[in-house]
Amino acid sequence: MVTTTVTVKFHNPSLARRKEWQRAAQLYRDTKQFCIDGWENDDFDKSVTTASIDNGLYSAIQNQAIREAKADHQEDGAVSYRQSQPFALNNQNWEIDTTENGSVVVGFPCISGWWYTPVEVYDDVDDAVRRVLNGEADKTRLQVYRRGDDWFCTFSVECDTNPDGETAIGVDVGHNNLLAAHAEDTDESMLVSGREAKYVRRRFRSLRESLQEAGALRALNRADDKESRRIRDLNHTASRRLIDWIEQFENPVLRLEDLEGIRDGSDWRGVHSWHFHQLQDFIVYKAERAGIRVEKVDPEDTSQRCSVCGEYGTRDGDHFSCPSCGRERHSDLNGAENIAQREGEPCTA
Ligand SMILES: [Zn+2]
Repeated sequence: MVTTTVTVKFHNPSLARRKEWQRAAQLYRDTKQFCIDGWENDDFDKSVTTASIDNGLYSAIQNQAIREAKADHQEDGAVSYRQSQPFALNNQNWEIDTTENGSVVVGFPCISGWWYTPVEVYDDVDDAVRRVLNGEADKTRLQVYRRGDDWFCTFSVECDTNPDGETAIGVDVGHNNLLAAHAEDTDESMLVSGREAKYVRRRFRSLRESLQEAGALRALNRADDKESRRIRDLNHTASRRLIDWIEQFENPVLRLEDLEGIRDGSDWRGVHSWHFHQLQDFIVYKAERAGIRVEKVDPEDTSQRCSVCGEYGTRDGDHFSCPSCGRERHSDLNGAENIAQREGEPCTA
């Protein structure tokens, strides 16, 4: 389950509307204070209902105020509320919808009745809002409040991590294995050994050294070209194998580490880093050509943490073991599992 907090600004609410919200915020605050004071002074017991609340607020909002006061009183005892409080509606008493012209509106009762007001939905929350509108995610209570001259509302969106039956494929690119891939919620994984690439690098390193000593510059350039071609071939083959393997899965989404976030000391730095960047580029390009969605994820600690319990484990070459939960795994596949589990951002080559 992933929870996203959505805050949106109301678009040009009329003066009448703003006045009513202002009034509602005041009455909401007063209702909560009335409850707290009443309980403190033993004027009434906790079973207080909206029948005892004598103000113009819609009863659903009064109920929400009583609920909040109860929770606050339970936690902190006597509470003194500040004047400027958001007022809130529980999930059943507000709506989000689209109008015929496509704008998103939020509707809720206040004092005089239900009002629907357009809200400004920016990119960062667009996805969460769409999911609620499409019935793919649940919304929680709504809070409405003023900041300066503007009015905002906040709510949370709760959705399954896997709303569309996607299979997340985590792919780790590195030295020991060119590729390690794992398909989440399956036992399927694949490894492409990095042995041949290592061999190519070693061979050309010693070749270059002897050519350098001999001062054979043209031969040196030729050797560089040849090494590049060999690595390029290996990268093409590995990425093609990966895409072929991924195509067996229903609705796959391929997740790779976001190279922007890679730290020094990893395979991604140093003289051979272009090998890995090229492989990553080939993967993205071939995936997109095959119609597979690609996402990048935060690379922090993907190889250090246990993919089952999230604690730090120890790596010994190809072997990863977790002292917390006892898990043993191929270290690159453990990394691929972590990558598969992370929330991704859309990525384009
Ligand atoms: Zn563990």
